[in-house]
Amino acid sequence: MTTVPVLSVNNLEVVYDDVVLVLRGLSLDVPDGAVVALLGANGAGKTTLLRAVTGLLVAHRGKITKGTVSVAGADLTGADPADVVRRGVAQVMEGRRIFAEMSVEDNLRAGGHSRRKAEYREDVTRVFDLFPVLAQRRRGTAGYLSGGEQQMLAIGRALMARPKLLLLDEPSLGLAPKLVEQVRDIVVQINGQGTSVLLVEQNAVMALSIASYGYVLEVGKVVRDGPAAELLDDEDIREFYLGSA
Ligand code: ATP
Repeated sequence: MTTVPVLSVNNLEVVYDDVVLVLRGLSLDVPDGAVVALLGANGAGKTTLLRAVTGLLVAHRGKITKGTVSVAGADLTGADPADVVRRGVAQVMEGRRIFAEMSVEDNLRAGGHSRRKAEYREDVTRVFDLFPVLAQRRRGTAGYLSGGEQQMLAIGRALMARPKLLLLDEPSLGLAPKLVEQVRDIVVQINGQGTSVLLVEQNAVMALSIASYGYVLEVGKVVRDGPAAELLDDEDIREFYLGSA
């Protein structure tokens, strides 16, 4: 473990279409090896933050107008998505975007495309160990998987790049409670294998139950942060989020 955070966002401002200010001086850290939860209502700016980290803002007509994004000490403010991936950051987007027409294994191959054959075999074995259901369905068409299985595939594909930081955008969205638990267990396992995780969730209870630290976002700013256990005990947070848990 190093003391340099794997992700450090400082005083970040993001504007869409040159006029809509969506992040207003947002700062947060993901310590190396940690799971950090990012909570906030619809429209608070969670997805925008992830876009600012991954370099995908430009594709949405967004721009960083102030502040910095560093990955393991390297300044990646406004970097290209490919550079961010090369630095060890992988993202699972909201809505589990998989290639529906392709087989399960081809989806995974697409996530590990830059790897040599031996490494690819190793990585795919690791993903199948983590998600036995994907191994069983490896030759099946991805679009026929259940919602939960598609989420596993989306996570598995991100893991093929062996990220040091995994960004998860609402992985429990739309999943039945049993599957939410499964996703939670998977995040714990992934983290146990050394990957740091920034977990964006509306399901505050799930996220805080596995995170060590949490941030609450409101209209583009952190309004509360602290150790996850403390946030879980917080009356206001419970009141606001328990309904959606
Ligand atoms: P959700 O949980 O609904 O995904 P969120 O916290 O992830 O919400 P964002 O998607 O980051 O929030 O959106 C924050 C604000 O930015 C919203 O008001 C949204 O309408 C606006 N926004 C998002 N994308 C764009 C865009 N491409 N152009 C203009 N405004 C945008």
